[in-house]
Amino acid sequence: YKGDIDSYIAQDGYKGLSKALSSHKPQELIDMVKRSGLRGRGGAGFPTGVKWDFIPKDPTLTKYLCCNADEGEPGTFKDRELMEKDPHQMIEGIAISSYAIGAKKAYIYIRGELVKAANILSNSISGAYKKGYLGNNILGSGFSLDIYVHRGAGAYICGEETALIESIEGKRGQPRLKPPFPATYGLYGKPTVVNNVETLSNIPHIVLKGDAWYSQIGTQKSTGTRIFSVSGHVKKPGNYEIPLGTPLREIIENHAGGLREGRRLKAIIPGGSSTPILTPDHIDIPMDFESVASAGSALGSGGLIIMDDTTCMVHVAKRLMEFYYHESCGKCTPCREGSSWILQILERIEGGEGRMEDIDLLINLCKNIQGKTFCPFGDAEIA
Ligand code: SF4
Repeated sequence: YKGDIDSYIAQDGYKGLSKALSSHKPQELIDMVKRSGLRGRGGAGFPTGVKWDFIPKDPTLTKYLCCNADEGEPGTFKDRELMEKDPHQMIEGIAISSYAIGAKKAYIYIRGELVKAANILSNSISGAYKKGYLGNNILGSGFSLDIYVHRGAGAYICGEETALIESIEGKRGQPRLKPPFPATYGLYGKPTVVNNVETLSNIPHIVLKGDAWYSQIGTQKSTGTRIFSVSGHVKKPGNYEIPLGTPLREIIENHAGGLREGRRLKAIIPGGSSTPILTPDHIDIPMDFESVASAGSALGSGGLIIMDDTTCMVHVAKRLMEFYYHESCGKCTPCREGSSWILQILERIEGGEGRMEDIDLLINLCKNIQGKTFCPFGDAEIA
């Protein structure tokens, strides 16, 4: 399968959409996705069906679906591959999800740098229109849907759902105060669902094979598969789709080929750079939402960064802080000013001019950021 529509159709592509439109009412689909246990693959892991069910059921209201394709979390590169290699899976997922929530327009907000993926998506959407899977009266069901590809300008914060919505509206991409949540006041003030690329790519399979089939993959509370983007000091970095709950050791040693010869494991970032760093004694934890949370971190976006004993952790902290300092949207003071001060202290320490009191100063600064910022970015940058 090379991403073209005929190959996709030959492998049961768009059968999930056909089944959804011909055999299910929207609420049945919402209940099915709830029973499947599917949780958002973008970062927060919120149950997808529950999110859909928050959308008001009034058929006279305009509703929107936004696909969050603004993949920008350092260490994460799975959505790009899904869009470049399997665009119709996601498009079909968007069509089914839009039908379930009653949206007639859907937007794919794609990171500006992903030019190749944006072009592939635009061509694939045209192909889906030609075959009658998008547009007016899809497959004779009476349901109509238009999908628009909206390219961002490469701001990390636009991956936050309300900043993404502001950006589509043509405003500066900064988070909104919540509540109201997008389910009641989203794009153009209308009820809106924002779902991640990988989340939506799961939907056709759940509809076609059933929620019972899906929920037996993974663990009881973390169902299905997860794509882990493995990078860093492993022999075979890449994207690996494996059942949730697979032990971390198995991912590193069996799938990613293990560490480089003669090196020891030093640190692991389990879910993209916003998630707290784990240590080698966590090597046997199952990679599911609950286990990683009880180890003190989060599954986040699935970006698994492996570091061996050649790594300088001060340099890692400084490099990540450079990123967060650059990407802070500047709306609130603790994040805007704090990231700058933390970066300066880390630069001083790395330059060999650190002072003992810098440790307390760093802890104090982090305490003044944690839980005190406008959006979760503040907590992420001090993770
Ligand atoms: Fe912007 Fe940072 Fe405040 Fe979020 S926490 S609103 S990114 S300044």
